[in-house]
Amino acid sequence: MRPEAVAEKIAPAPGWDPHAVRGDFPALDQEVRGAPLAYLDNAATTQKPRSVIAAIDHYYRYDNANVHRAVHALSARATAAYEGARTKAARFLNARSAAEIVFLRSTTEAINLVANGLRLREGDEVVLTHMEHHANIVPWQLLQQRCGVVLRVLPISHRGELELDGLEALFSERTRLVSLTHVSNVLGTVNPVAEVIRRAHRHAIPVLIDGAQAVPHMEVDVQALGCDFYCFSAHKLFGPTGIGVLYGKAERLAALPPYQGGGEMIRRVSFEKSEFADPPQRFEAGTPHIAGAVGLAAAIDYLEGLDRAAAAEYERGLLEYATERLHEVPGLRIVGESPHKIAVVSFVMDGVHAHDIGTVLDHKGVAVRAGHHCAMPLMDFYGVSATARASLAFYNTREEVDRLVEGLQLAREILT
Ligand code: PMP
Repeated sequence: MRPEAVAEKIAPAPGWDPHAVRGDFPALDQEVRGAPLAYLDNAATTQKPRSVIAAIDHYYRYDNANVHRAVHALSARATAAYEGARTKAARFLNARSAAEIVFLRSTTEAINLVANGLRLREGDEVVLTHMEHHANIVPWQLLQQRCGVVLRVLPISHRGELELDGLEALFSERTRLVSLTHVSNVLGTVNPVAEVIRRAHRHAIPVLIDGAQAVPHMEVDVQALGCDFYCFSAHKLFGPTGIGVLYGKAERLAALPPYQGGGEMIRRVSFEKSEFADPPQRFEAGTPHIAGAVGLAAAIDYLEGLDRAAAAEYERGLLEYATERLHEVPGLRIVGESPHKIAVVSFVMDGVHAHDIGTVLDHKGVAVRAGHHCAMPLMDFYGVSATARASLAFYNTREEVDRLVEGLQLAREILT
């Protein structure tokens, strides 16, 4: 089908103009190898709006000081900005209080904190799923090696959906946690996490949700979900790298010991003994990423200034358009065909390696990711070593998808 015919079949969502927001993202306005950049690698990291860049710039120009420790004006401003970001993040996730928000480096660090804090013992079990990112596999495997923790893995279907019926059969008296991704970074599948939480809680098992790929695309309400832990990275949410959020229910965080020792996380220290601060400070040893928190707060402000429902609807239409158009490329197979997806499309092409696809596309200014996407068990499940992945955001356009398809047609011509 010609692009015009597909466009006619899948009408663009009204109420959202990607061109109106593109101007907010300076990095999108550049040429790569003589062509306008088509940035389709948003699941790896998103571009940053001007307001986020400006907030970080302003912080370093005018407010830079260390937090919590000084009485002077700049320190008070830095502290207000840092703690204000915590309050903002709490509201963003609808946490009950800012004390339930821990600032860490990333999703990866958040999962490592929980994995280490649960003090699991030999024979304790953790339930994961077959579509987890390595960030939600390897921390648990370290515990498997260190102290004999047992991992149970919920299978998935070929379409890329959890085999939910098998969940409760994985539970035992030794199950200490279910830890799963809200949205798959490879398949785009949106998992029925509320149902997983309901079932786990029926057995009094806490649940951690890896929200890295969810928060950029949908509104998340941790109280409505009832999850025990939820984490995400700012850099996938149009914010800076180096800062992420761990939400934990107050009683869950209170039960976790310190993760690292140092300044800021103590109440009193002597050579005999230290008393630790309450959460969240207990988990934030040392000088935190203050500018990162400022950038995250600006990213949340930016998102909240948008019509997020319209953006999500637009992304749904863009995914449908991309899926339809990719089906036109001979020998291309999409990996991940759940009807409940965010705008991520992974694919393989007969006889062409994903890295070569990525290279040809890059020569046309189209940025996609090629590789195992830190989900090697998932690659094994599909019997592939790598996929190419286009991951879309609300600033991407149908023209960019058309250029992706043209690039793939070219890759096919020259590589097969
Ligand atoms: N989980 C998922 C589902 C992801 O997509 C990613 C990033 N690709 C991570 C965890 C890890 O995020 P970070 O590298 O920011 O810690």
